[in-house]
Amino acid sequence: MIKTNNLSKNYHSLEVLKNIDFQVNTGEVVAIIGPSGSGKSTLLRCLNGLEEISSGSVEVSGIIVDSKQSKKDQYKKIREIRLNTGMVFQQFNLYPHKTVLQNVIEALLIVKKWSKEKAIEKGENLLSRVGLFEKKDEYPSRLSGGQQQRVAIARALALEPKIILFDEPTSALDPELVDEVLSVIRELAKEGMTLLIVTHEMQFAREVADRVVFMADGVIVEQGKPENFFSNPETERAKRFLKIM
Ligand code: ADP
Ligand code: MG
Repeated sequence: MIKTNNLSKNYHSLEVLKNIDFQVNTGEVVAIIGPSGSGKSTLLRCLNGLEEISSGSVEVSGIIVDSKQSKKDQYKKIREIRLNTGMVFQQFNLYPHKTVLQNVIEALLIVKKWSKEKAIEKGENLLSRVGLFEKKDEYPSRLSGGQQQRVAIARALALEPKIILFDEPTSALDPELVDEVLSVIRELAKEGMTLLIVTHEMQFAREVADRVVFMADGVIVEQGKPENFFSNPETERAKRFLKIM
C-alpha cells in the first residue's frame, strides 16, 4: 500500500529523512515511534505530499511520486494520492465556522460533488460510527478535544481512503480523553483498515500494531513485531528510548 525508495528530505542543509526504505502492506497497522525531531511527522507529510520530497520516491496505492518527475507531474500524482489517503493530525484542524456534520461532508460535496442529501446521509453514518451523531449540528468549539478528534477521524473516513495516516492523534488531549480516540482507531484496525500511526502511546502501539517502526535522527533504526521490539529491542538507541518512555 505504501512504499518509499531511498526517500530523503532536507530543509536547506538539515537532513531530516535519510534514504528511507519503508513499506506498509495492505491491511497492516504500523506504529511509528521515536524521539521528538526524528522525522516522524516529516515522513508522514512526504507520503501525502504535504512536504516536497528531496530525493527518492514515494508510492501510495500504486501511485508513484518520484523526485525525478517534473514538478507538474509530481503535483498531479500528489492530488491522486490525497484522494486515497486520510490524515489525522495532533491538532484537530476542524473548520471552526462549520458544524460537525459540515466538516465531515465538506470533501464529499467539494471533491466528489455529491448531492447534499447523499452527503448528509453518509456524514451521519460516519458520525454514528465514531459515536457523535448527537453532536452533528454543534460547532467544534463546543466539543471536547476527544470529540473533536473523533470528528476529524470521521472526516478522514469520508472519501473512503485506502490508508489513514495519524500523526500523534492523542498528544494534544487531556489524559482522560485519550481512550475514546484510541478506541475508534482500534475499531478501524479491527475492520482491516490500513493504518500508519505516529504515537507516543506505547501500550497502544504494543496492543494494536502489527509492526513497530523505531525512528531516530532521520533513519529507521529498528523495526519488528511489537512483542519482540518492546521486550527485546536490538539497538542501544531503542533501548535508551524505551527506558525513558
Ligand atoms: P518528529 O515528528 O519526529 O518530532 P519532525 O518530522 O517534525 O520530527 O521534524 C524533524 C526535523 O525536521 C526536526 O529537526 C525539525 O526541527 C525539522 N523540521 C521540521 N519541519 C521543518 C520545516 N518546515 N523547516 C525546517 N525544519 C523543519
Ligand atoms: Mg511530529
